[in-house]
Amino acid sequence: MPEPLLATHCLDAHYGDFQALFGVDIDVFEGEIIAIIGANGAGKTTLMRSITGLLANGSDMVTFRKGPIGTLRADQVARLGIAMVPEGRQLFQSLSVEENLIIGGQMGRKGPWDLAKVFELFPVLKERRSVPATALSGGQQQMVAIGRALMSNPELILFDEISLGLAPIIIKSIYDALPEIIGGGMSAVIVEQDIAKALRVAGRVYCMQEGRISLEGRSDELSREQISAAYFGV
Ligand code: ATP
Repeated sequence: MPEPLLATHCLDAHYGDFQALFGVDIDVFEGEIIAIIGANGAGKTTLMRSITGLLANGSDMVTFRKGPIGTLRADQVARLGIAMVPEGRQLFQSLSVEENLIIGGQMGRKGPWDLAKVFELFPVLKERRSVPATALSGGQQQMVAIGRALMSNPELILFDEISLGLAPIIIKSIYDALPEIIGGGMSAVIVEQDIAKALRVAGRVYCMQEGRISLEGRSDELSREQISAAYFGV
């Protein structure tokens, strides 16, 4: 069995006195897409925040290439090669499309992704490169957020709520772009509320419920009944 690229080990997370994650174990192997599914409040975003250093945890609770990263800051985690496309995009609204993308590239990591390649992936961003992020549709903003993450040439990219609030045609174009993104050898974690989409794109799925992993397995082996039970607790 190869070593996972990223792993969490009995990961707990707290907001003050409130415990949001309880002993979460996940593995992501090189070149793999995994999906995290679960109802609102299950802890998916908290898991993403714990991995990317936005939420502090024990040093050994998160490892990347076997090295402990649980106590690193978000910028240190990013430099190691983990990028997140956050829920709600979180672009610099007054900056242009191009400026937002360039910020992603300032990590100084070498790799195939640069402005030209992002524009090739999402041609509409090239047309709109000079307009401020505020002038973009939600779908275009999501493309900038994905492009910004790619510009850091990560080894692992985390998508939090990849299709939330977007029109079906935009969701399709983002999903259509995934094979090219992952084709370069990158690994991905996709947080998705649309279970069918998650199962289609990911090799393995983790389901979360009330801060715990309630089910894990290969997408092609999990039954609808198993997923409903793990998702809704019924
Ligand atoms: P959603 O789909 O709604 O984003 P989620 O699965 O991503 O849900 P989280 O956002 O990780 O869930 O929330 C997990 C739990 O932690 C919830 O009970 C939520 O209310 C709580 N929580 C999240 N953020 C905070 C915070 N900043 N302070 C206190 N509690 C929080």
